[in-house]
Amino acid sequence: MKEIILCKYGEIVLKGLNRGSFENELIKNVNRRIKPLGNFKLRSGQSTLYVIPQDDEADMDEVYERVKKVYGIAKVCRAVRAEKNMDSIFEVACECFGDILLGAKTFKVVTKRSDKSFGMTSPEVSAELGGRLLSKFHRLKVDLYEPEVTVVCEIRDEGAFIHGAAEEAAGGIPVGTSGRALLLLSGGIDSPVAGCMMAKRGIELSAIHFEAPPYTSERALMKVERLAEKMSEYCGRISFYTVPFTKIQEEIKNNCKEEYFTLIMRRLMMEIAQRIAEKNGLQALITGESLGQVASQTTAAMVTTDAVCRIPVFRPCIGLDKKEIIDMSYRLGTFEISIEPYEDCCTVFTPRHPKTRPTLEEVEKAQAEFDFEALIEEAVENTRVKTIKTY
Ligand code: ATP
Ligand code: MG
Repeated sequence: MKEIILCKYGEIVLKGLNRGSFENELIKNVNRRIKPLGNFKLRSGQSTLYVIPQDDEADMDEVYERVKKVYGIAKVCRAVRAEKNMDSIFEVACECFGDILLGAKTFKVVTKRSDKSFGMTSPEVSAELGGRLLSKFHRLKVDLYEPEVTVVCEIRDEGAFIHGAAEEAAGGIPVGTSGRALLLLSGGIDSPVAGCMMAKRGIELSAIHFEAPPYTSERALMKVERLAEKMSEYCGRISFYTVPFTKIQEEIKNNCKEEYFTLIMRRLMMEIAQRIAEKNGLQALITGESLGQVASQTTAAMVTTDAVCRIPVFRPCIGLDKKEIIDMSYRLGTFEISIEPYEDCCTVFTPRHPKTRPTLEEVEKAQAEFDFEALIEEAVENTRVKTIKTY
């Protein structure tokens, strides 16, 4: 029994003339993820990517888990190919489902026929296969509404494919089809979610993290790197920039009015992030901000941070509740890492009474108490970069 994996396309199928380039990007991404696991042939046809192992070496459980996390794929299933005739279909269905059907009480057959030249209609195939299975497994009954086992038979150009109910995959469109952006990645819950949301819309991610040693520890940085590594299961490889931010934070503290600390810090983060973006061909910034979550995330506060931005800032969490963001982070697998209690540079010099309704003029005035330009340049100069990937 030779198992293959069927990856059903999501939104790609709605693309017009440039659909081919979306498919190519998807195939490249899938290939990159599973290549270390063995030898595969990848073939695209009828809105599906066929992942076909070329030998018996590959760990198909792991292949399945990996392709499930590739953006651009809406559903996945493990299938076995049969010839396009009822004898072969029945034989393969018995091979795949024999053991399960022996122990089950109810089942149903679902047939999908994308090869319209096949001589029987979908209901006819379901009735025929269902009938044969019933006569082989005497204790079975058909239950169309809540069956214990669903046997799916797809009649495609390439052959007939037998599998169970397909599982939801990552959805979205392939990473690399929407340009490149730089995610401001803290150790919190929101920013990894924001990054994955944009990767799901086809963005190739880089990440930038601001550290403030000795106020923040080496282990805090390692936590953020582990977050990026977890994200890369979905987003693919990530260029990870680490910016030394201590001097800037100290000068904010020494020179600026306390109630504006956070806003000035955020403006300087945006400035540095932009310069790194511009140097590396990244077209936009991404943050994990959510409206009203904290003082620096009110509309008035964002007016003051956006005022220093020359490139678009994507804030995909902006309209989400914390609970919704937590649910997403849980599903992505970043939640467990995010809640580890390490310090973040934002929390080092938090004002006791941050301004929630600052005006741009006030913030600019408070920031003008010190000339940060030389320190900004120095921070950009001393930024380190490494590539992060899971596999
Ligand atoms: P998160 O859960 O993502 O940390 P948050 O709710 O804690 O977000 P803030 O700490 O105000 O919010 O940060 C808002 C956004 O600023 C973050 O989502 C992230 O994009 C960015 N950010 C904050 N701290 C850092 C940092 N040390 N390095 C890089 N980006 C940061
Ligand atoms: Mg934070």
